[in-house]
Amino acid sequence: MMGTNDTKTKEMVASLYGPEPVASAPVPTAVAPERTAPAPVAVSEEKRDLSLDRPNVRAVVSMEVRMSGIDQCMRRLAYEAKEIEPSDEIPTRNRALMEMGNYLEPLVKQLMREDGWEVANEEAVELPHGRIILTGHPDGVARHPVKTSGAPAVIEVKTRSVSMAEYAWEVGVERTHPESVRQAALYSMALFGEVRDVVVVTMARDSGEYKAERIPADRAKEAFDGAMKRVTEIGRMVLRGEIPEPERPQGDSHCQSCPFRTLCGNAEMPENPGEGGLTDEELEAQLKAWIDANSSAPKTSSPATKAKKAASETIKAHLVSTGELAGEMVIDGKGWNMKVSEKPAVSIDMDAFNELVAPEVREQVVLETVRRTLRITPVKKK
Ligand code: SF4
Repeated sequence: MMGTNDTKTKEMVASLYGPEPVASAPVPTAVAPERTAPAPVAVSEEKRDLSLDRPNVRAVVSMEVRMSGIDQCMRRLAYEAKEIEPSDEIPTRNRALMEMGNYLEPLVKQLMREDGWEVANEEAVELPHGRIILTGHPDGVARHPVKTSGAPAVIEVKTRSVSMAEYAWEVGVERTHPESVRQAALYSMALFGEVRDVVVVTMARDSGEYKAERIPADRAKEAFDGAMKRVTEIGRMVLRGEIPEPERPQGDSHCQSCPFRTLCGNAEMPENPGEGGLTDEELEAQLKAWIDANSSAPKTSSPATKAKKAASETIKAHLVSTGELAGEMVIDGKGWNMKVSEKPAVSIDMDAFNELVAPEVREQVVLETVRRTLRITPVKKK
């Protein structure tokens, strides 16, 4: 940790945030004193007047934190809150991904409307918290007769690759993308003056399929409390003139696209990033073995393999629909048996499971594994 401590600032920060350390201190809520809970009415009428033009609010605000950035590394948050000039450009690839998400968001909302959702766009929101102002722009507020029982809920739209979207649909966004839940919870507090149910909508970019997952209010409130704990911590440090330690390991992939990477220095790769356990000779021998095997191995994506799989699925569906599950046929003088074998299986309604079971319990039941795939391709000639 580095930085300077000024006595006056220290006293002021302590009066606002209490004494250090913050680890076991209760987390203050972000409800502005002027607010009262609104009565449940139409989406557009539910919003509260949270204008910061009120002099008593503007007068005490000295730093801004973006709600969408709340899960970024604390050091980056501190740089942004102190309005330090970024030292680097965000790489084009990362900007492209962000832009893609922005372009797709209206289409995701359109898909939701076609599926019976009522979706309203939202203006920017602000949430004062002591001398900090949290600012953000919710993706919208939506309601569905079944999914939200007709009640308006903040929606957070995310577009992902197919594999990441499917993973989120399977284990729930509270596990795969808890930052989205925290973000939606902050918007919910800013819009309604309380944390209500929130909905995280995850769309697979490549297939256009999406799933809207409702996070019940009690769990969204926990996410909100976690976010506010970070806000309080960052407020305490910045107002004391301190810059937090990097929250990510040296050379972390997130650091490679950080706009403060040169200033921070944490993006540089460590000198010995790790050893794979093979000598160069062993690696060469393994690669030769793979190339030899690959030349004679059948390709699973070959047209013949695809045709065989497609015919097999069709025959299976046919035998199941006849109720016989078996058949016999002669082709070109040769007899063939066809038989569908069945064994009992279970399937889990992941939507219901994720909604009913808290993420800590789910963690003990649905175990995370890492699927590693090795791809070896010829080096392209330059
Ligand atoms: S380079 Fe990494 S550690 Fe440094 S501010 Fe950026 S994200 Fe944080």
